[in-house]
Amino acid sequence: MSNVLLIAEHDAGVVKKTSLKALTAAKVIATKQGGNVTVLVYGAGAPAAAEILKTFGVSTVYTVQGEVFDHPVAEALLAATIEAQKASGATFVLAASSSTSKDFLPRVAARLNAGMASDVMAIIDAKTFKRPMWAGNITATVELTTALKVATVRATEFETASEGGGTGTVQALSVPIDSGSLKSRFVKRVEVKSTRPDVTSAARVVSGGRGVKSAEGFKIIENLADALGAGVGASRAVCDAGWVPNDLQIGQTGKVVAPDLYIAVGISGAIQHIAGMKGSKVIVAINKDPEAPIFQVADYGLVADLFVAVPQFIEAIRS
Ligand SMILES: Cc1cc2nc3c(=O)[nH]c(=O)nc-3n(C[C@H](O)[C@H](O)[C@H](O)COP(=O)(O)OP(=O)(O)OC[C@H]3O[C@@H](n4cnc5c(N)ncnc54)[C@H](O)[C@@H]3O)c2cc1C
Repeated sequence: MSNVLLIAEHDAGVVKKTSLKALTAAKVIATKQGGNVTVLVYGAGAPAAAEILKTFGVSTVYTVQGEVFDHPVAEALLAATIEAQKASGATFVLAASSSTSKDFLPRVAARLNAGMASDVMAIIDAKTFKRPMWAGNITATVELTTALKVATVRATEFETASEGGGTGTVQALSVPIDSGSLKSRFVKRVEVKSTRPDVTSAARVVSGGRGVKSAEGFKIIENLADALGAGVGASRAVCDAGWVPNDLQIGQTGKVVAPDLYIAVGISGAIQHIAGMKGSKVIVAINKDPEAPIFQVADYGLVADLFVAVPQFIEAIRS
């Protein structure tokens, strides 16, 4: 049996949407290689997350608990994943692409002597995948030739899995770890509180670029986002300038988003930015330079001074 093991992330027991999308990918792979989907969840909220996940047509949900898994470092997740892989007999281990999975899954691949594909966008068969290269300018088709395989999947490219298809069992795994033996340790978690929707799951995203000129100027982006009930993003130039926090960055080295509507304001459209938003269903660009590359990917473009056009836009929405 060639089972698949998905490592799912959750927030206090609520399974992340990105993991439910990765579950769809896990199901496709399991069908193609003829096995079951199993899942691993870790940390204090793991039992609650497992109760949700077991209703999604998976065979087993493994839970791992203990203080070290509440804010786990990559070494701890490596140990937990190896235990779950052994217990499940999985020949394929995957997770949604995230800063966490990018940290620990390559270690899992190294430990298992497994080939790894990152940011999988499409599954051709159980060993052949499409993934982006060169900041998304090239889509490569890669084949994993090892017996065990590891992948991260780009959640924006897969539908959210739906419940049904049988109820799986929940099994607690014991993964004893001496936190003193780990080479890194969790120090603190700084949460950015926002009342706005998260850009990775928002239906609408408004992003601002260097064209806003300053931190003060960026407020116009926030006002437009609030008028639309949208998430707020930014180009790297804006984050690097310290006008907004880094977690707003969209692009190759930031977040990858694919909302129904993406509005890029005062953003030139460098390939590294486009790599993070070109999957959006409708792209609107507002830029005063008619030659700006962003217009090449935009469905609707407005050549205008953002400080004139955006307030008019907000007024039109509000009225
Ligand atoms: C390895 C690497 C990784 C990178 N990763 C990322 C990434 O993840 N995300 C990312 O965004 N960038 C990334 N970059 C940086 C990227 O190359 C660009 O430098 C950056 O995206 C530019 O940001 P910008 O469009 O806001 O600024 P600019 O390129 O300076 O563009 C500003 C735009 O605003 C317009 N403008 C100015 N004033 C107005 C006005 N009043 N009204 C309307 N329009 C106006 C201008 O015409 C211009 O098009 C990366 C670069 C490298 C080398």
